[in-house]
Amino acid sequence: MLLKIETVDELKSYVAAKKALGKTIGFVPTMGALHQGHISLIKQARTNDVVICSVFINPTQFNNESDLAKYPRTLDNDMVLLNGINCDVIFAPDVFEMYPHGNKLLDLNLEGLDLMMEGVFRPGHFQGMITVVYNLFKMVNPDYAYLGEKDFKQLAIVRFMVNQLKLPLQIVGCKTIRESDGLAMSSRNIHLTEQERNEAAIIFNVISKCANLKITCTPNELRQWVQHEIEQSGILKLEYVAFVNASTLQELDNWNAAEPKRVCIAVTTSKTRLIDNVEL
Ligand code: AMP
Repeated sequence: MLLKIETVDELKSYVAAKKALGKTIGFVPTMGALHQGHISLIKQARTNDVVICSVFINPTQFNNESDLAKYPRTLDNDMVLLNGINCDVIFAPDVFEMYPHGNKLLDLNLEGLDLMMEGVFRPGHFQGMITVVYNLFKMVNPDYAYLGEKDFKQLAIVRFMVNQLKLPLQIVGCKTIRESDGLAMSSRNIHLTEQERNEAAIIFNVISKCANLKITCTPNELRQWVQHEIEQSGILKLEYVAFVNASTLQELDNWNAAEPKRVCIAVTTSKTRLIDNVEL
């Protein structure tokens, strides 16, 4: 039976009691409006004795008030889903519980990682995200935390933070779960109009072709091709496409090195921003 916890004190006592019994804790941080992508992370966390999922819409990672206001809130439905897959705890604090001293951000130099890709378009987003993830890690004290590759840059920054601050937990990166036409599942997909939703399938379609095309195209040529393919319908606009080193997130200007490579993309519709990425 799913237990709902809303305060940090109650959460800490719950975790301390489980740890005293030698139980391992698997943790999945989310902003709610849960879908099968989130559920896949919970299922992977189920290899631990105890699974905790947090649902908190973090105001410090939104750089736009209206984006925060319209973020979907479906807590009752989230609880039904979590109960159905045997999650032990939903931690759903309010803003005052999470930020009792105001919106003070974590003082950690992200060494430029935050400035690449989304960083340019969402100033302050990653400092806000890393603050809430750090605070949640301190509260939940998990052995393993499960994050999606869907938010590839977020995953890289959380790994960086855990290494820099030597936090005693392992980060597990989990595969992106997609709709049947390839669109990455996202809480934001419900904001798409029918036409936008149909067109959005092209995002995965296009980035999936990049691995093959890089045999004959330079990064610059491939960037132009992606832009053309995405924008030909007139409904989707390319915010960025980046071919990056999958570990450092540094943009590549050639394919020479044997490092793992990734293509990351952000596309906007009339009101919604969609991101995706695949291995190259
Ligand atoms: P969010 O609620 O959007 O902040 O996401 C919470 C976690 O779920 C993050 O680690 C995301 O990367 C992950 N996630 C979101 N969408 C997907 C998806 N389609 N497949 C796998 N993981 C996902």
